[in-house]
Amino acid sequence: MRKNIVAGNWKMNTTLPEGIALAKAVNEALKNITPKCDVVIGVPFTHLASVNEVIDKSKLGLGAENCADHLSGAYTGEVSAPMVASTGANYVILGHSERRQYYGETSETLKTKVNLALENNLTPIFCIGEVLEERENNTYFDVVKKQIEEALFELPADKFGQIILAYEPVWAIGTGKTATDDQAEEMHAFIRGVIADKYGKEIADNTSILYGGSCKPSNAKALFAKPNVDGGLIGGASLDAESFMGIVTAFE
Ligand code: PEP
Repeated sequence: MRKNIVAGNWKMNTTLPEGIALAKAVNEALKNITPKCDVVIGVPFTHLASVNEVIDKSKLGLGAENCADHLSGAYTGEVSAPMVASTGANYVILGHSERRQYYGETSETLKTKVNLALENNLTPIFCIGEVLEERENNTYFDVVKKQIEEALFELPADKFGQIILAYEPVWAIGTGKTATDDQAEEMHAFIRGVIADKYGKEIADNTSILYGGSCKPSNAKALFAKPNVDGGLIGGASLDAESFMGIVTAFE
């Protein structure tokens, strides 16, 4: 069956010493408990190798927040999937709405990135979600379905089965405005249906679908109680070990 997962997305926050301290604090907190979910931190590229040295990878997974759509070569400033994997990381967040919105990432580039990630043993945490206008004009199901189809549905079933999805309504990211647990459940159930239509019920049932968007200790419990919500991708609240752990421990 699918896993429950809570993954942090630190975004462009923390200096290296601050990042190491935060990773150590999460690692320390995990020593004392047996969480009912896998726990992952997504950290800036500059932090990966150092954070890898200070965490117990059997309890805390490590991910990058992006990777390049090329394997190597003359792409100044880019960081490839093999480079990420060589730091010890085992996850990569791909298709985050901030990457789509500010850096022009398209389904076409994301398709390439997903393939490169999988070829290099990185588990993609693939983000999808509608903007406010699409929520308000009721096109949000179509938008999310298209994002999944365009970037992921050329994958063979065994490869698709390695993907973690994160539904992140853009209007809820960093705004303090969380989707209600019913809104999240409605979309997650829809996504699972889309996957079942393409790859069959077994793969759909085994796919972890995380919710992201102003998730915090106070609302995580209700969100995670929904049958199709398998955890969270956590931005702001992942920058404080205590609040992140408040979400990790929200699974009943
Ligand atoms: C995110 O950016 O992935 C996210 C969910 O951010 P926040 O939790 O801050 O809304």
